[in-house]
Amino acid sequence: MLKRPTSKISAAAFPDHSTNLLLVKQSNLSLLFTLIQKYERISRAQLAEMTQLSPTTVSTLTDELLSKRLIRETGAGVSETRGRKPIMLEIRPDGGYVAAAEWMNDRFSLFLYDLQGNEVGGGESIIKDYTQIADLLSRRLDELVAEYGLSAAKLVGLCIGIPGLIDFEHQRVIQSTVLAIERDNNFYEQLQVRYGAMPIMLGNQSSFYAYAEQAYGAAKAYKDMIFIDSNVGIGAGFLLDGKIFTGSRGLGGEIGHMTIDRHGPRCKCGNRGCLELMAGLPAILNKLQFAILSGRATSLQPQLETNPIPAIRSAFEQGDLLVVEVLDEMARDLAFGITNVVHLINPEAVMIGGRITQLGDAFLRLLQDAVAEKLPHIPPDKLAVRYSELQEDAVTRGASRYLLDQIGSNLSVLHHVWSE
Ligand SMILES: [Zn+2]
Repeated sequence: MLKRPTSKISAAAFPDHSTNLLLVKQSNLSLLFTLIQKYERISRAQLAEMTQLSPTTVSTLTDELLSKRLIRETGAGVSETRGRKPIMLEIRPDGGYVAAAEWMNDRFSLFLYDLQGNEVGGGESIIKDYTQIADLLSRRLDELVAEYGLSAAKLVGLCIGIPGLIDFEHQRVIQSTVLAIERDNNFYEQLQVRYGAMPIMLGNQSSFYAYAEQAYGAAKAYKDMIFIDSNVGIGAGFLLDGKIFTGSRGLGGEIGHMTIDRHGPRCKCGNRGCLELMAGLPAILNKLQFAILSGRATSLQPQLETNPIPAIRSAFEQGDLLVVEVLDEMARDLAFGITNVVHLINPEAVMIGGRITQLGDAFLRLLQDAVAEKLPHIPPDKLAVRYSELQEDAVTRGASRYLLDQIGSNLSVLHHVWSE
């Protein structure tokens, strides 16, 4: 649905004689494409009003986007007067496709999305050998393209969400608590060789989760947000002013290795008392297991199951003293980490995702109380602490949305698609 803009977005300034007119045209094409993406359905007159470009220029440029089959005309829009209803423009779903992958510990998921961001199809594959990841991904991608009868040349790019630290300078995963990956991994180069000029992007999995949460989930209203992803490790994605924050070399936002107890246990990152070691799910399971073996009374079974979270949740809701004590401590430790980050960036929301959400609303309330206790100067309505609303495909949805949003800022990435 079209939302009225609150501010005008300026078109590229008219150049002096030495400026390349082609660049101005490219910049204005990108601007129009981005606005059509943002508003989903918009008329030429609205584009002209927003950009301050002349109606003739808008018409010429949108004709070019139409001829490149990136946008299409769609029925009449909603008329604000009784006059003729304008023809609306929208992104053409089959104008191109993006592929998005999430790399997990022993498998990856790979999905194709159309230019509007709708899922075309995909699924999960098992990884038997990490060194073969580039080969596995590209083979699966080729299969998907064939399976859905698409043209490989319409593939705009590939974006991969990874649970680990990524060095953007060298496009490498440099550390991961989840993936057993060698430091000299070169899967990115292998993919580049395979796909030539097609853009391939790597990003932290939690950042893409956060991006999806803002585009499609519970965080639409928040521009500054921390997303905390607690599964095997604790990851985080920061969105500042709606943009993914990675820091200078891509290492920002790694709150799992923030020290919250300098006398705490040694972490494999080399520090002590990291948040992940104190409040991560494996740590909680260890604590419970140790207490049970030490003879503490509890309704939990002596042997915790493969997925013990439902049993822990149920014991917690029934007031099992051991479980209440352990989860209370976990909430307080997690609140420590959250509070430190809130002090740094003052977000509007802290979204919690991952398996930790299976602990249910009673645990969320415990966490909200622990955060509120540490931040008495922030009114609860100015800092939402809530669970993610998205399902398992959040990372690939976020990665695809991120890639699609990058297209607007650089339409030249579509050159190989245009020439089709
Ligand atoms: Zn650590």
